[in-house]
Amino acid sequence: MAAASAMLGATFPNGGGPMVASVLSPEIKLEPYWWEAAPRPAPRAELPAACDVAIVGSGFTGLSAALTLARAGRRVVVLEAGALGHGASSRNGGMCGGMFKVAFSRLCARLGLARAAAIYKEGQAALDHLAGLIERERIDCHFARVGRFTGAHAPGRYEALARETELLRKHVGIEADMVPRGEQHREIGSDAYHGGRVLHRDGGLHPALYHQGLLERAVAAGAVVAADAPVTAIAPEGKGFTIATGRGKLATRDVIVATNGYTGLATPYFRRRLIPARSFIIATEPLAPEVMARLMPKRRMLTDTRKNVYYFRPSPDGRRILFGGRPTYGGADLRVAGARLHRFMTGIYPELADVRVSHSWSGYIALTFDRLPHTGRQDGVHYALGYCGSGVVMATYLGHKTALRVLGDADAATPLDGRAFPTMALYTGTPWFVPAVALYYRIADRLAR
Ligand SMILES: Cc1cc2nc3c(=O)[nH]c(=O)nc-3n(C[C@H](O)[C@H](O)[C@H](O)COP(=O)(O)OP(=O)(O)OC[C@H]3O[C@@H](n4cnc5c(N)ncnc54)[C@H](O)[C@@H]3O)c2cc1C
Repeated sequence: MAAASAMLGATFPNGGGPMVASVLSPEIKLEPYWWEAAPRPAPRAELPAACDVAIVGSGFTGLSAALTLARAGRRVVVLEAGALGHGASSRNGGMCGGMFKVAFSRLCARLGLARAAAIYKEGQAALDHLAGLIERERIDCHFARVGRFTGAHAPGRYEALARETELLRKHVGIEADMVPRGEQHREIGSDAYHGGRVLHRDGGLHPALYHQGLLERAVAAGAVVAADAPVTAIAPEGKGFTIATGRGKLATRDVIVATNGYTGLATPYFRRRLIPARSFIIATEPLAPEVMARLMPKRRMLTDTRKNVYYFRPSPDGRRILFGGRPTYGGADLRVAGARLHRFMTGIYPELADVRVSHSWSGYIALTFDRLPHTGRQDGVHYALGYCGSGVVMATYLGHKTALRVLGDADAATPLDGRAFPTMALYTGTPWFVPAVALYYRIADRLAR
């Protein structure tokens, strides 16, 4: 166990005590930095007795579906267990891209070139959909297509990234450039990487402001969005369903499950197919403009080739660094996790050693057994789930597509349709195997050449 702990680089004496305290601001906030500009909305709408479509979950998936359905004249009720947008949608890194967690070359081997290319092209279409939606709806959420730099954490990873990028250029039309190590300072003020890749069409936004914009538009279109309304059961009845909530029952013709990393016992079929994983982010105290300009010269979204990936970016006002990753797979305290992320961050940017953490928070993503998102219909219930940590774009898109399917619109079709939604024997939704996988990832990352 000691060896495993050393490998994880996770030793914190006294549960974190002095080491932790020194890198954390005394006024540290243990909630998302994003909530300062967009506090969680309070409205607790009354529940009607019946509707056309009930949506479980008030994140990007649920609200995107609600907006499309309400604009089409459907009576929509969004049911949210906690505060509106309490899940990953108001907690994430705000990075917007159209890639998937399974590499294109692997997907080609699994599904064939034509299907893999269609899926990857759909990712790019989803990115354009998000950009178009934000522009059309005039959602003020600092969306900017600043591009994304992916640093290679080992020389061999640079070569692999270059091969993958060539395939993506040829078969998907991705706009990307490789940046050799000798030139990487124009992308990132760090020597921690062995070169990397720029995806020019990617971007970033302020996720809580984006969520707020979607919420306001869905409500303005007529959707009822109800906080503190946990769904406890979904039962078929007649031509529709009866939904039991913590605030009474609701009769509906259609249901959409949009609970992603927070999927619970009310929907055991989906729970068995999703692996919830906790992801953490810190924000630094404000930095001097010249430091920010040196560390993040193009204000791009930044990530790397680790299996246990780091993701980082400037705050929309360009004054802080937001740095995310998975410093632990257990139920770690946000202070301890924040201090570990600070250590990861100074591995990339040693000059930030004395900069303190002002915010530390976490949220749950949903991984799937085939590392792709899933949308479809099961026992009459529609769903869009399993974004594998990249859902700002895809959740918005598949929420919309799922709404189109409910409406019977031919545009609902997506190359992601028609695939089995895999699970694993004996898995019921408690991911007991995650620590072992995490350890394997960390070891593989360290051994990468
Ligand atoms: C720390 C972190 C960083 C991330 N960074 C990025 C990033 O930079 N870029 C990116 O693309 N993606 C990122 N993601 C992933 C992205 O945030 C998610 O994929 C996306 O927000 C999923 O949206 P959703 O609406 O499907 O689910 P969520 O926003 O998680 O919403 C699900 C909602 O369902 C509710 N719910 C669950 N069960 C019930 C029930 N029984 N009754 C009623 N309500 C229920 C939950 O309370 C929750 O509010 C990140 C995620 C995390 C946690």
